[in-house]
Amino acid sequence: MTKFVFVTGGVVSSLGKGIASASLAAILESRGLKVTLIKLDPYLNVDPGTMSPFQHGEVFVTDDGAETDLDLGHYERFIETRMKRTNNFTTGQIYKSVLEKERHGDYLGKTVQVIPHVTNEIQDFIKRGAGFGTADAVDVAIVEIGGTVGDIESLPFLEAVRQLSLRLGPNQAAFVHLTYVPWIAAAGELKTKPTQHTVQKLREIGIQPDALLCRADRMIPDDEREKISLFTNVALWGVISMPDVDTIYKVPRVLHEQGLDGLICDKLRLNTPPANLKRWDDLVSETAHPQGTVNIVMVGKYVDLSDSYKSLNEALRHAGMKNHVSVKISYLDSELITPDNVAQLARFDAVLVPGGFGVRGVEGKICAARFAREQKIPYLGICLGMQVATIEFARHVAGLRDANSTEFDPATPHPVIALITEWKDADGSIKTRSVDSDLGGTMRLGAQSSDVVPGTLAHQIYGDVVTERHRHRYEANVNYLDALRQAGLVVSAKTQREHLTEIVELPQTTHPWFVGVQFHPEFKSTPWAGHPLFNAFVRAAQDHHAHTAATPEKALV
Ligand code: GLN
Repeated sequence: MTKFVFVTGGVVSSLGKGIASASLAAILESRGLKVTLIKLDPYLNVDPGTMSPFQHGEVFVTDDGAETDLDLGHYERFIETRMKRTNNFTTGQIYKSVLEKERHGDYLGKTVQVIPHVTNEIQDFIKRGAGFGTADAVDVAIVEIGGTVGDIESLPFLEAVRQLSLRLGPNQAAFVHLTYVPWIAAAGELKTKPTQHTVQKLREIGIQPDALLCRADRMIPDDEREKISLFTNVALWGVISMPDVDTIYKVPRVLHEQGLDGLICDKLRLNTPPANLKRWDDLVSETAHPQGTVNIVMVGKYVDLSDSYKSLNEALRHAGMKNHVSVKISYLDSELITPDNVAQLARFDAVLVPGGFGVRGVEGKICAARFAREQKIPYLGICLGMQVATIEFARHVAGLRDANSTEFDPATPHPVIALITEWKDADGSIKTRSVDSDLGGTMRLGAQSSDVVPGTLAHQIYGDVVTERHRHRYEANVNYLDALRQAGLVVSAKTQREHLTEIVELPQTTHPWFVGVQFHPEFKSTPWAGHPLFNAFVRAAQDHHAHTAATPEKALV
């Protein structure tokens, strides 16, 4: 029988509810339990796929092709269970489903209301995410409720989980509330009042938390913990400090030391072996003792919000750990890069152009790809980063003047990147190919496999087959592949089913490390294994670093 832990947040957002939930899940997993995590988002968008990265941060893509909240990235990096479409849902999805049922006549003429119809739907979605009552059922599902207690929009979620815990019966569900305890410098005191108020709000709804995770810039002293306990009706051992830490990998240890997992297992009557956090301790010690630094520059559009490249940052950090170096990432706004100032990239050990949408900043990225190619600086292009590398190569090496993607210039004479539906035969008719017709004009999403060409750099990295996740519309135009190949570009992997270009590279005889991938490898990197592509990229950056240090005049380019 699946048990549930509901994680809510109070006072302010951005306290790290995702990391707290993922850390608790990791500790429970280390106690031998099968665990999953589910994220409930209270906004009306059906999924974050349509939201601007400036607004919402990264969109995390699952193997089964769902566009989800970036917290699911943390979940996959912290626990073994893989996330699926059912691990994240929004108010928009709930209402969509309720309205479809209403139109279908499923409610048999009843008045359709928030309680019970919407709240029941939420409970069904939560159970589905946990595989409740099926062969896939987990022992514990940790359900993170987005937003802050007191928001109008999260009310139906809170009501639904209260009802669910009642229906499941005693000892089947626990409530954890993440709160903020500010340090007021002028008074020299930690203030517990916001915590008292947010728990009051929660109790008004009928939820009594079993544990409070108190975010503060320091550990909460015992007298303040006692005060919080008394005012919130939470047992003293349930008042747990969650101080600022220098790496997120410390959080499982911090929570375990204070007995959070013990408390949860006690409440849920789970009898398990003790937690074993050795792998987390090893990670923390690895990050604390790097043997060098590499400087990587990311040339992107969403550089002002670091959440936009969350998985990418983590993947680079993981690869650093694998190579025993610390990876310093600098962000350059691609809109500001021109041929006149692109030489500033010479001071970095490697260049990364990440994914992106829309024409803004594209010429700067093309400029960066050209500079990395010509100056033989390691280059990794991801999704759009592969597309700009292809456009750059077409323009400056293959002699296809004004080559472009139809995303940026619909009238380009050489659409080397285009929608599949735009690939035309010589006679102008749409090229007929054996692809799923809905691929054109819609996103290619989720995991797909490709065959890798032996003898290529990609083959050294991946072996025979690569399976990675996608999120894009445009593709390398098959009609230009021969011209690009003749000019020296290597197409090192194509999808097994539709033979779409997945990886391009420069031969290592002409460039030490230049790779563009149409997929998003960052989604599959974990702190334990890193990721083969990022591991190799960081190694190439290290080599470049060693090489430029040996020839200092190069550093002055
Ligand atoms: N805009 C490009 C496309 O849709 C690249 C997308 C991306 O980088 N994720 O194909």
